[in-house]
Amino acid sequence: MPPTINMGIPGATSSVRSGGGSQASGKRVLLAEPRGYCAGVDRAVETVERALEKHGAPVYVRHEIVHNKHVVETLAKAGAVFVDETDEVPEGAIVVFSAHGVAPTVHETAAERSLQVIDATCPLVTKVHNEAKRFARDDFDILLIGHEGHEEVVGTAGEAPDHVQVVDNPDAVDKVTVRDPEKVIWLSQTTLSVDETMETVRRLREKFPTLQDPPSDDICYATQNRQVAVKAMAPECELVIVVGSRNSSNSVRLVEVALGAGSRAAHLVDYAEDIDPAWLEGVTTVGVTSGASVPEVLVRGVLERLAEYGYGTVQPVTTANETLVFALPREIRPPRS
Ligand code: SF4
Repeated sequence: MPPTINMGIPGATSSVRSGGGSQASGKRVLLAEPRGYCAGVDRAVETVERALEKHGAPVYVRHEIVHNKHVVETLAKAGAVFVDETDEVPEGAIVVFSAHGVAPTVHETAAERSLQVIDATCPLVTKVHNEAKRFARDDFDILLIGHEGHEEVVGTAGEAPDHVQVVDNPDAVDKVTVRDPEKVIWLSQTTLSVDETMETVRRLREKFPTLQDPPSDDICYATQNRQVAVKAMAPECELVIVVGSRNSSNSVRLVEVALGAGSRAAHLVDYAEDIDPAWLEGVTTVGVTSGASVPEVLVRGVLERLAEYGYGTVQPVTTANETLVFALPREIRPPRS
């Protein structure tokens, strides 16, 4: 018997995975680790919380601070006001920019309206912005692999609109044209499927053999780690439940990765109540994970619901340990003592 751990879930026990494909008998949950909050989301959510503490409500936030319904609703109750555009914010007020980053034009509009900006852009998104600026300065054609219209892609492309083309998926490669095939680089959105992105790159390289790679991975550590964990557990699952919102790119990718790695079915849920009991018919092993913008309380709700249906044994599947923490934005950082 593997050792058991008290997970704090009513009716649930947890056993450490014994490896080597050993199968516990009966219904069980495989719980992916790492899952949930990444360093960039943690920082962005704390930024809004601290801004509210320091300045009081309302604190304006341009777009959803992170793509999670529960987080946005909780912050809205605490006094955050979410707006689509900066010109909806009263002159001189405080505005937080979301973790997904913004184009320089958004900073310009904010300055024109004398807004007090707190920029919660994830540092790993800022890194991609800096790459776009640098390669645009060197007059490269930049092929930005990412989802057309996604906030992060709009922000990154906005750094160098005359140099960036968005490549949405492998099939979109056929339409790409460049000025000089010897001076082309690809960059990417941080939250893509690693496998699909590599397929897009393969097809781009067939077309442009001297295509340059980004100086370092643009798909971030958190996206990659969550996909690796799902790939490890999905072959043993008949069903994978991904906790996350529909507009969360990295959460949607986890559903695709689970299906690609062998799970018979995979579904995205915002809350435990979204689980359809019909999904569980004939299922022995359920995999559970969560996107990078999902607080752990929502995963605990899902585990409690599954325990009610007899999936009381929870076995962690751990593929990495994450320790990265980002400093808060300068405007909100506590003073050094
Ligand atoms: S998913 Fe990656 S890029 Fe996005 S906020 Fe988290 S760490 Fe940053």
